[in-house]
Amino acid sequence: MNNNFGIAVHGGAGTILRSLMTPEKEALYIKGLQEAIDAGHKILISGGSSVDAVEAAVMVLENFPLFNAGKGAVFTNKGTHEMDASIMDGKTLEAGAVSGISNVQNPVALARLIKDKSGHVFLCGSEAETFAKLMQLPFQPDDYFYEEGRYKQWQEVKDSDGYQLDHTVNSGEGKKFGTVGAVALDLHGNIAAATSTGGMTNKRFGRVGDSPMIGAGTYANNHTCAVSCTGHGEYFIRAVVAYDISCLMEYKGYTLKQACDYVVKDKLVKLGGEGGLIAIDKSGNIELPFNSEGMYRAYKKGNTDAVVKIYED
Ligand code: ASP
Repeated sequence: MNNNFGIAVHGGAGTILRSLMTPEKEALYIKGLQEAIDAGHKILISGGSSVDAVEAAVMVLENFPLFNAGKGAVFTNKGTHEMDASIMDGKTLEAGAVSGISNVQNPVALARLIKDKSGHVFLCGSEAETFAKLMQLPFQPDDYFYEEGRYKQWQEVKDSDGYQLDHTVNSGEGKKFGTVGAVALDLHGNIAAATSTGGMTNKRFGRVGDSPMIGAGTYANNHTCAVSCTGHGEYFIRAVVAYDISCLMEYKGYTLKQACDYVVKDKLVKLGGEGGLIAIDKSGNIELPFNSEGMYRAYKKGNTDAVVKIYED
């Protein structure tokens, strides 16, 4: 065992401006991020696995209504909540993913069970819910997922063909992507990543973003890095963002920082893809790049104090 471990989490990126935030809300976001870091850190410091740590951290964020995942997930065009999640173990390259599920309290826990117990990687829709029931995961009624701000966002666009990335500027809170995620390195030198989202407000036709797609929104490989993304999913899918960062390290010898900067601040910008990501490598280096105004994010290396940030500075 080495002494090097760490965890990072995100709660979405976008037009997150100080001028649009109240001190009360800011304190709540910070609390949510800090609690997620604490949940993961507790597991890591006692010798637990990075997979357990990212699952626990993401569950805290899913249970926290201000983030667009689990409780507080955005509304679809039909006024429902359809959630996506994924998780990947960098040691074994085993992965689990799920899309378009409703009423499952913690989609990341379902992704984890798909990885461990289904014999598959990716399940979707009502049959994935059947598997969740078989695994005895907790379900919640529709109103558990209700969050007033998200309902207002949906009211603004629900009679149009448009869809919104969580918040838009005219919703009073700035455009932001509220997906959540975590990456971690454990004391055994293993890394993992997990991501969970409600997707986009007013989405329809079974739209699925990057978050549950292994290689796009989530990826982990002990030889390179673990990555969890947030942003305009269509672009992150087309740029295969998480795997691209791993590939740049594996095939071109980039450092984690070089790979993250190139993909997020150059390639994605040229494509028009707004958002960001969190990443950790096998040495415990952590990067949290984004090309939007802000990103809810936090990290903790070993036993140092957690660093929690929202805005650019
Ligand atoms: N990436 C997510 C999606 O496109 C949205 C987000 O990050 O908030 O579904």
